Amino acid sequence: MISKLVIANRGEIALRILRACRVLDIPTVALYSEADRNAKYVRLADESVCIGPPPAAQSYLNVPAVISAAEITDATAIHPGYGFLSENADFAERVEGSGFVFVGPRPETIRIMGDKVAAIKAMKESGVPCVPGSDGPLGDDDETNLHLAAKIGYPVIIKASGGGGGKGMRVVHSESTLLNAISLTKSEAGAAFNNDVVYMEKYLERPRHVEIQILADEHGNAIHLGERDCSMQRRHQKVVEECPAPGIDEKTRQFIGERCAEACRKIGYRGAGTFEFLYQDGEFYFIEMNTRVQVEHPVTELVTGVDIVQEQLRIASGEPLSFRQDDIKMRGHAFECRINAEDPKTFMPSPGKIERYHQAGGPGIRVDSHVFAGYTIPPFYDSMIGKIIAHGRDRAEAMARMRIALSEMVVEGIKTNIPLQRDILSDETFASGNFTIHSLEQKLESENA
Ligand code: ADP
Repeated sequence: MISKLVIANRGEIALRILRACRVLDIPTVALYSEADRNAKYVRLADESVCIGPPPAAQSYLNVPAVISAAEITDATAIHPGYGFLSENADFAERVEGSGFVFVGPRPETIRIMGDKVAAIKAMKESGVPCVPGSDGPLGDDDETNLHLAAKIGYPVIIKASGGGGGKGMRVVHSESTLLNAISLTKSEAGAAFNNDVVYMEKYLERPRHVEIQILADEHGNAIHLGERDCSMQRRHQKVVEECPAPGIDEKTRQFIGERCAEACRKIGYRGAGTFEFLYQDGEFYFIEMNTRVQVEHPVTELVTGVDIVQEQLRIASGEPLSFRQDDIKMRGHAFECRINAEDPKTFMPSPGKIERYHQAGGPGIRVDSHVFAGYTIPPFYDSMIGKIIAHGRDRAEAMARMRIALSEMVVEGIKTNIPLQRDILSDETFASGNFTIHSLEQKLESENA
């Protein structure tokens, strides 16, 4: 087992990784910026190292500082969490090149999955269903591109191969705007991602976001942990997630899950990962793979009983998976509500001091958060301050428990999106399970009108 782990992240995920290390008896080193000096996980860790001033570029994204922290503490492995350096192939390479274990996939795998054209090619070759599209970069020939779009059928979407975070894509509804859209997306992608490769896909008009969680070890074993529905999004940011996805039957789950597990075996994937799909009219369409632990991993943990972060650490230590596919049973239903320090109407971030804090509890409730009464949320980072996860025997019970948890939760001194979450949990469309990735924005628009 890893003999000492550097946690190269902050906030709730730093605390989550620390808790997994405690169970496995792995000594921990917390890294922190000057803005996080008084964070709870920093105090709870066995050791801690300040890696720089508050701005992330000078601390959590500072590769030499992270690696030196591992060197001076004699750590043997680095867990990147999510965000920050977690999907940076150059970082993973530097970590391994400096003699440390990177808790994640091989750097080459991260590089392929970070390039969407390459990722789609690898997935197609492995038998994962993809969105009908250009199957590669768009060239400069206008006639060819017009012909391709006509063949795929409008609307189409032009996407940057190096894009991320919902940026670098443009929907085209008719031939008259196609060529202009391609050149605009190309120049924006070149400026934003330093990579002007763009590709074309069929634009799906009312899909859901359904993703498959996988685990793979270095010994060629790969399993899936079923799916999550993350369709409740605002500006491509997930707001509520659930496991399982409404309406997916066991046969479909095993079919798509096995495709993903098989793709992992074929590409020699290592660690935890997520295959993201758009799901429409009973069909799955791969859009991208996340090569790290995700914010919404707890819903899968509550339904399957698998501790995904512990598994990441075991896999990184070279151990085989502790589960076979047959061992994985989905029990009940779970929801996760992300709690953000933001205005629930305008979505403006609301950093500052938390004056009063009462956490929800009771049967089936888990709260993953690093905050407490008296804690000051720094203005430098993501506004997510924690997650409420509710588990129940079925969707109705999990939903009822989440409603109660949201009603109990008290966070004062700053603004949070808890009122919005309460609103979503009492929304009829949400309760019906009959929603698309546009439902939340449509709801917000109709309330504003
Ligand atoms: P990013 O890496 O920026 O998150 P994705 O490829 O995951 O990019 O796409 C982000 C979002 O854009 C999706 O969740 C979906 O809402 C929308 N999207 C992407 N491709 C399509 C498509 N072919 N049809 C419809 N919507 C799409």
